[in-house]
Amino acid sequence: MGAAGGVRVDHAVSSGTFSLDGETFDVDNNIWVVGDDTECVVIDAPHSVADILAVVGDRKVRAILLTHAHDDHCRVAPALREVVVAPIMLHPDDRDLWELTHTDRLWDIDLHHGFEISVAGTTLRAIHTPGHAPGAVCFYAPDLGCVFTGDTLFEGGPGATGRSFSDAAQLEESVRHRLFVLPDDTVVHTGHGADTTIGAERAGLGE
Ligand SMILES: [Zn+2]
Repeated sequence: MGAAGGVRVDHAVSSGTFSLDGETFDVDNNIWVVGDDTECVVIDAPHSVADILAVVGDRKVRAILLTHAHDDHCRVAPALREVVVAPIMLHPDDRDLWELTHTDRLWDIDLHHGFEISVAGTTLRAIHTPGHAPGAVCFYAPDLGCVFTGDTLFEGGPGATGRSFSDAAQLEESVRHRLFVLPDDTVVHTGHGADTTIGAERAGLGE
């Protein structure tokens, strides 16, 4: 995938479940790892620490970045933190969702809009995109020409807003004003399923 000074994006898919509002669904989640041969950050911690460590290898993990706190994105974050000794970063507006999954411990660092994470000589910038979840965050990597959108934007359009803690109007606002302002050729690495681009999704919504 993208390359800038040895920095690369690695990926795996992890299978498990998503539960909210008393229902449970089988889901496949993307795990994204950004770094070089010596250090990296992990984006989302879905179902299996082993699945994540298989992508990390022997690299030092600098941070565990969460796109939001639905259980299929944050379930093994505390267990991963124990193994790799790195801070979990989450937007504080997802505290209610986090506490549905993790009742006895919190994350380490609040991710606010514009927060920058440096790893392997490149930078990821947090873009707060509330809607799918109140504390949903996308991570934009300008050097790599890509953005990690979690469940905010997929191939085919914005994410779901049918459940508790979601807001469809807010999601549309986030996608239009915080994602569609990125360059058209920005590759979108999503929380589930295939990659897309900002340009393709903007065209798909008739923008
Ligand atoms: Zn979600």
